[in-house]
Amino acid sequence: MTNDNFRNDRRRLLRGALLGVAAAPLATLSMRGSNAMAQDMPKLAEDNPQAIALNYVHDAADKDDMRTEGAICGNCRLYLGERDAEWGGCTAFPGKAVNINGWCSAWVATSS
Ligand code: SF4
Repeated sequence: MTNDNFRNDRRRLLRGALLGVAAAPLATLSMRGSNAMAQDMPKLAEDNPQAIALNYVHDAADKDDMRTEGAICGNCRLYLGERDAEWGGCTAFPGKAVNINGWCSAWVATSS
């Protein structure tokens, strides 16, 4: 490797590192933006065909006969909302907000 090649490689490496540092705050803003958008999403209707297919209800108590005791959207691994918000996104229902106290048969326990 010649000195010129070494300098060019070092410049490329430094440029990449600087771009990475500059992009980090933008990524954080983008994630915050997606959380804000989740709160503005339309609420999932219980009579939505996909909601019916997965037995979704806004109040988990309505499905006590089907669900694991204590299982609600708020402790589901697929829930995307803030833990202190009443409504939030869900991986199973893209573009719709589900109630934090709701439930559906796709519920998966959080691993924490
Ligand atoms: S997948 Fe989880 S968060 Fe989504 S509706 Fe079902 S129980 Fe709620």
